[in-house]
Amino acid sequence: MPGGRVTLADPIPLSPLSVSDSPEDKFREFLEIRGEKLTEPRRVLIRQIFDSHKHFDADELVADLRAAGRQVSRSTVYRTLRLLVESGLLRELRLTNRTAYEHDYGYPSHDHLHCSACNTVVEFRNDEIRHLREVVSREHGFRPSGHRFVITGLCPACSRARSPRRRLDLI
Ligand SMILES: [Zn+2]
Ligand SMILES: [Zn+2]
Repeated sequence: MPGGRVTLADPIPLSPLSVSDSPEDKFREFLEIRGEKLTEPRRVLIRQIFDSHKHFDADELVADLRAAGRQVSRSTVYRTLRLLVESGLLRELRLTNRTAYEHDYGYPSHDHLHCSACNTVVEFRNDEIRHLREVVSREHGFRPSGHRFVITGLCPACSRARSPRRRLDLI
């Protein structure tokens, strides 16, 4: 069913990195350089976002905030998300039908599989992809700082649901 929530498949294969500064400290530092303050709504947002690692979009964040009884305006959510991406705390993830966000700071670099039917996002790490990034960058005289790689398709459950004939073949 399309349009479902973006969910992080279990079990989570990656564990967070240990970092000395909290996301809140990092964000305060970033804002101070720009002459801005870590206002109360921004503090509420950063706590909500860094409570758990998942892939979320702006609408889900607004819904989560409401469910937690935290009042932050939609425009503050959008503007703060942009700032969190600029500061390197969050990473933007362009999926087929939406833009999702996830922790970048304090989390190992990884890539994704995205199920176009149920919206499940699976994380994985692959050394060959990182090696390829180095090789291609070197060929072009590039100094890589990141990359995006998303495999789109059907997860095992959706794949089974859509091909009953193949399932019969396997019996
Ligand atoms: Zn699926
Ligand atoms: Zn991820």
